[in-house]
Amino acid sequence: MRTTRQIMVGRVAVGGGAPVSIQSMTNTPTGDADAALAQIGRLARLGCDIVRVALPSSAEIDGFTRICAESPLPVVADIHFDHRLALAAMTAGAACIRINPGNMKDEDKVRQVARAAAASGCAVRIGVNGGSLAPAVRERLGHGPAALVESALEYACWFEEEGCRALKVSLKSSDVGVTVAACREFAARSDLPLHLGVTEAGPVSCGLIKSAMGIGALLLDGIGETIRVSLTAPPEEEIIAGRRILEAAGLRQAAPEIISCPTCGRTGIGLFQMVEAVEKAIADLQAQGLEIGLRKIAVMGCEVNGPGEARDADVGIAGGKGRGILFRHGEKVRSLPEEDLLPALLAEIRASCSKN
Ligand code: SF4
Repeated sequence: MRTTRQIMVGRVAVGGGAPVSIQSMTNTPTGDADAALAQIGRLARLGCDIVRVALPSSAEIDGFTRICAESPLPVVADIHFDHRLALAAMTAGAACIRINPGNMKDEDKVRQVARAAAASGCAVRIGVNGGSLAPAVRERLGHGPAALVESALEYACWFEEEGCRALKVSLKSSDVGVTVAACREFAARSDLPLHLGVTEAGPVSCGLIKSAMGIGALLLDGIGETIRVSLTAPPEEEIIAGRRILEAAGLRQAAPEIISCPTCGRTGIGLFQMVEAVEKAIADLQAQGLEIGLRKIAVMGCEVNGPGEARDADVGIAGGKGRGILFRHGEKVRSLPEEDLLPALLAEIRASCSKN
């Protein structure tokens, strides 16, 4: 794990050994504060730590101000092109602003934002994106990792020269290899916390794979202090994916791990439907703000590996021909017909729940 500077985004610490936080972004119109706050509430219940909200124009300032005041999560204002919106977002109560200096064109305007952030204590995410590099940088360095890194280092220098040190940086490309190479290079040259993500990763089917590869590779290197999984899907899906990536990297256990077999010619119960139902039950219980008191749940198809895995889990079932065995903490509880297996397993999961 590399050592980074710690900054505060509202009450959430980023970097300096703090747990890796998960972010997403609202996709409701910012002017409709009620809709945004309802979505932020759902994201918070799923495990989101920091939420980003677009501020496309001054027409949304009233809605944005109310969102900042009532959000249960620290709000990052997403600003593009117009530095005055960044200044307005700080006044409106944003905990952090996300800007891409490459699309603000004028260095003086970026420095104005830096001075305002330094004076107000607002954190700043410098977001450098392969698709919106400054033309001069693109001409000199192309749009590969070196261009992302050099841009980010130069912009960070502008902010620090103006006294703003509460900085984090993202270097994103829709190309996984470019994103990973840029973040590795930046991590070797700076102590600023990194926000990881593969931008415009696409629909869930390929976006999940690209994000898991890119974010996962970096997290396993000890790089990355906060993450966002970008998917063309409801933001709630991004939080679930983010949690799973952190879990797979061994950095967080937000939901019980489901151990399930791939099924084969020996499978004698409807395993796919059972696993789907368990997954959905876990998401529903967490969305209700309940904490599930189980570390591992096994849903296994037959007696080959089933009893071993189910015994090793907190609760589990091991299928047989049209029936199966329920296990709890390594002990066989009872043998049940297939139709009673799933209800018995779900009852065990519900019984383990407590209020968050
Ligand atoms: S646990 Fe049994 S049913 Fe599942 S894949 Fe292994 S052998 Fe097949």
